Amino acid sequence: MKLEKPTFPAPDHDHGRCAADALTHAERVCELRSRKFTPIRRQVLEALLSSHRPLGAYEVIEALAKSMPRPAPITVYRALDFLMGNGLVHRIESRNAFLACAHDHDSTAMVAFLICERCGSVGEIPAAPIAQSLGAAARITGFAPRMSVVEITGTCAHCQKV
Ligand SMILES: [Zn+2]
Ligand SMILES: [Zn+2]
Ligand SMILES: [Zn+2]
Repeated sequence: MKLEKPTFPAPDHDHGRCAADALTHAERVCELRSRKFTPIRRQVLEALLSSHRPLGAYEVIEALAKSMPRPAPITVYRALDFLMGNGLVHRIESRNAFLACAHDHDSTAMVAFLICERCGSVGEIPAAPIAQSLGAAARITGFAPRMSVVEITGTCAHCQKV
């Protein structure tokens, strides 16, 4: 996973640019994999790209309902499944919410999510070494880990300044 983008963009960053880049990335991924980036998949991703905060499925539905007939939950869940399956969206387990990902990593890469308790933004960092040592520590006890999620709550650098 390359970290060419800041984990927590500054509050005054050009988010329009940020969201546009993420959409271009999604288009490229779908093209490379010969998967269709259908209108609903794009609309769901656009809703998630409205900020760096994860949204629950119902918040996505509410966001979409502002510009189109209210989509059925199953339609939105299917689009989310597609986006997650292609590494374009992550599920934040502890929030039961979904986060758009513009990082260029494959869908099996281990990442840790940093969840800011003040602004609600979520950043991601590569976590393969941590995941390996946690997995190893679990296996010593005879446990078969299926863990794929590391979530760390705290305060982002921007919120610490205010
Ligand atoms: Zn942004
Ligand atoms: Zn990611
Ligand atoms: Zn914050």
